[in-house]
Amino acid sequence: MMNEKVHELLNQQINKEFYSAYLYLQFSNYFKAKSLDGFANWYMIQAQEERDHALLFYQYLQNNNMPVTLGAIEEPIQEFESNMAVLEAGLNHEIYVTSLINDIYAAAYEVKDFRTMQFLDWFVKEQGEEETNANDLISKMELFGSDPKSLYMLNQELGTRVYTAPSLVL
Ligand code: MG
Repeated sequence: MMNEKVHELLNQQINKEFYSAYLYLQFSNYFKAKSLDGFANWYMIQAQEERDHALLFYQYLQNNNMPVTLGAIEEPIQEFESNMAVLEAGLNHEIYVTSLINDIYAAAYEVKDFRTMQFLDWFVKEQGEEETNANDLISKMELFGSDPKSLYMLNQELGTRVYTAPSLVL
């Protein structure tokens, strides 16, 4: 039987990941409205990945015969001061998600729930990549974002990102 706290945190994470998807969909929406379709594409794929993460937590609980409770998804931020503010909100959000994954890991570790720890290993690695990606995007924007021609090329580059299903299969 899964520990109550671990169960609660895993269940909450479904909601947090769907919120992440919703937040990135909002980012995509923001850039689409600015005709920066490459940025919009990049965040649309990010949203799809977050939806996948939510479903992995959902599937993991179901595979372990644990009940799933789905709650309301919070409204994402609507207004941004600048393009850079969106990217920074993305990085801050990923740092927050890393802390959530770490909290679940710590709870699982405390009760020697090795199965959950193994499940979470993929997410620990994934969060490292998410933070790196968000940081890289900010660096590129700092370098190229203020010049329209360079921004155009960065937008083109981000437009080439394609969706791939998560490497973790449950
Ligand atoms: Mg995620």
